[in-house]
Amino acid sequence: MPSDRSPEIGSTVSIQKHIFNALLEKLKTQGYEVVGPHVENETLVYAPIQKLEDLPRGYVTEQEAGSFRLVYTGHTRYFDVIPGAQSWKQFLFPSHANLFNLKKVNGAWEMETPKPTAPAYAFIGVRGCELAAIQIQDNAFLRSDFTDPIYRVAREKAFILAVNCMHPAGTCFCASMGTGPRVEGDADLTLTELEDVFLLNVGSELGRNILAGLPYESASAFVLNAANRGLERATLQMGRSMDTSDLPDLILNNLDHPHWRAIGERCLSCANCTQVCPTCFCWDATDTLSLDGNQTRRERVWDSCFNPGYSYQAGGNTRPTIHSRYRQWMSHKLGTWKVQYGTFGCTGCGRCITWCPAAIDITVEVADLRKEIR
Ligand code: SF4
Ligand code: SF4
Repeated sequence: MPSDRSPEIGSTVSIQKHIFNALLEKLKTQGYEVVGPHVENETLVYAPIQKLEDLPRGYVTEQEAGSFRLVYTGHTRYFDVIPGAQSWKQFLFPSHANLFNLKKVNGAWEMETPKPTAPAYAFIGVRGCELAAIQIQDNAFLRSDFTDPIYRVAREKAFILAVNCMHPAGTCFCASMGTGPRVEGDADLTLTELEDVFLLNVGSELGRNILAGLPYESASAFVLNAANRGLERATLQMGRSMDTSDLPDLILNNLDHPHWRAIGERCLSCANCTQVCPTCFCWDATDTLSLDGNQTRRERVWDSCFNPGYSYQAGGNTRPTIHSRYRQWMSHKLGTWKVQYGTFGCTGCGRCITWCPAAIDITVEVADLRKEIR
């Protein structure tokens, strides 16, 4: 029965799909910049959305190693599409950020440090693997001994509407990484899309507040069962899997295995995998000097452990070969990350597989390494 009350935290309600427009309107009224999956220039991006119809209804993505296709099938669901190259990292950890500016005034340099600012984003359609990736970046940028001010200003204000994933793509393996297809992390609201209704699980006071006054009903046992069955199906349909048992030891005890050289012969060291990865956080600082030499701007820009310059230090390169850079990337994600942060640095989103021009597949490389070591 429609209600003016707000649902309890932890409860699940159902809404008619068109009511989602009122929810988006409410977020905008409260000052949020609402961002979600959107078809633009014949591809899928994360962009500002105004209404339900801006979401990619009727689309799916077909993803395999080194291949991505956005396909219109005409189905009636809004959240079936598995994300493309973009991730929420571009909003919380922007690819370019101004750190400080220097200006020469009367022969002396003056420094100006801009105060970090960011909109209050409402992220619509965050998958379980993507929410896990945000939490991984939180571990890096919001540490107890150091907090990154640029990341913090966006992260603290962000509203997260997560989505349980019903139709994983061919390169997805979140089930084996424990991050999906069911959303496991802390979201303000978690949506499950059924044919006729959206189910919304309330995860925070913010989520409760956004639903207050909207017409909703308590989710019936029937629709909850349908959602559970859909998620069980999605787990079985996962395109790939990774055996994570003893994974850090498998990798860290075999750093000299010839398999790394074999990967190095195929890898182009193009850094695509790190740019699309929602957990990668390496960056560099670059200076842009004005032509008259009186002003300079220092920016933080995304970098990659695949770039030779990233490991250049004290007059030498500590990872001069492609295979040593690939090994660094994978041994960090699946080995030392666990020691540093207590989780893997990979959430099984599959982007690095889809967007690798050499079709290198992290799940295959782990499986092959296992086979060769036995
Ligand atoms: S693994 Fe693939 S995407 Fe990554 S650097 Fe090598 S060729 Fe590029
Ligand atoms: S390593 Fe690959 S599959 Fe894992 S989170 Fe990064 S992009 Fe996704």
